[in-house]
Amino acid sequence: MSKSVLIIYTGGTVGMMNSGSGVLLPFDIENLLKSIPELSRFDFKIDSVAFEKPLDSSNVGPQEWQKLGQIIADNYEKYTGFVVLHGTDTMTYTASALSFMFDDLSKAVIFTGSQLPISDLRTDAKENILTAIELACMTDAEEKSMIPEVAIYFENHLFRGNRTIKANSENFDAFLSPNFPALAEVGIHFKLNDAELRKANKSFSYKSKLSADVALLKVFPGFSAKVFQSVFDNQYLKGLVLETYGTGNIPQDKHLIAGLKRLSERGVHVLVVTQCIMGSVELGRYATSEDLKALDVCSGKDITSAAAVTKMMHVLANCESPEEIKALLRKSIRGEVTV
Ligand code: ASP
Repeated sequence: MSKSVLIIYTGGTVGMMNSGSGVLLPFDIENLLKSIPELSRFDFKIDSVAFEKPLDSSNVGPQEWQKLGQIIADNYEKYTGFVVLHGTDTMTYTASALSFMFDDLSKAVIFTGSQLPISDLRTDAKENILTAIELACMTDAEEKSMIPEVAIYFENHLFRGNRTIKANSENFDAFLSPNFPALAEVGIHFKLNDAELRKANKSFSYKSKLSADVALLKVFPGFSAKVFQSVFDNQYLKGLVLETYGTGNIPQDKHLIAGLKRLSERGVHVLVVTQCIMGSVELGRYATSEDLKALDVCSGKDITSAAAVTKMMHVLANCESPEEIKALLRKSIRGEVTV
C-alpha cells in the first residue's frame, strides 16, 4: 500500500511572514507549502488541510483541540500518518490534550513548527517539516506505524507530546523531555527508541469531551490564601492542578490548608505537580507536604503541568465517578507519568 500523509496547518511562527512593521503575521497553507519545493520529492501522497484562520498558538484552546482531533479522527483510515503544524508556545498543551483524547492510537501524529518563519533565510521550518513527514510515514514490514504516538518533532529530537516542555523561547532546540527519554534522535540516521515507543493498537477511538472547569495554581513564597480565596471557593471549579515546590511541598499556612480542605470537602479533585522540571512529587517526604497528603489529593508524580491540566480536562469530562477520576489521575493512561 502506498503511503500518504495529511498535513494539518493550525498556525504559529512556522507559517508567518514579516508584515513589514516587524510584527509576524500568519500566511496561508498554499504559500507555506510552496516555500518547500522539496515536498515534491517524497514518493508518497501529501495532502493538506488548514484552519480557516491560522492562529498564534496563544489563541489555541480546547475548541481548537477538538477541531484538530475531529480532523484526524475523520481522516484516520485514509492516511499513514499525520503532521500538525502548530505554534510552539502551546504545542505541549495541544499535543498532551490529543494524546488523552485518542485512545489506542495506531498511527503517528507528529507536531512540529519552527522558531523562525518559513519565509526567513535561516528558517528551521524546512528541516522540521520534512523530517516530521518522514517520521509520520515510518512503518514496519507489516505496514504498521513505528510511532503510534502523539509526538513533537523539533531540531533532531522526537519527544512524547505529553512529556514535553517548551524550555527555550529563542533556540532552535526549543523543547525538552526532562523526565522521559526521546522517542527518536534524528541525525544522519533515524534512531528510534523502540523500547520506549508505545505499541500500535487496533481499536482506535476518539473522545472529544473536555471540561474547562479546571484551574492551575502555582504556590510561591508570599502566597496569600486571601488573594486566592475566589479560586478555592469557586463554584464552577471541578479540578485543580497545584504546582508545588520540590517533592510536593507548600507553605504551612493555615489559610492555604483550609482553602485546600474546603476544595477537597466539595469533591474538587486536586492533582499535585512539581515546579521542578525534573524529578517527582513524593508526598509526605517533608513535613511541608504532610497536610496535602492528609487530604485526598492525587500525586501527579513527574507529570508536566501541561499534561496535568489537559489530563484533568479529559478525565473530568469523560468519567462519572469520583473514584474512577482519582484512579485515572493517579495512573499513567498514555505514558504521561512514571509510575
Ligand atoms: N507565538 C508563536 C505561536 O506559538 C510562537 C511560535 O510559533 O514559535 O504561535
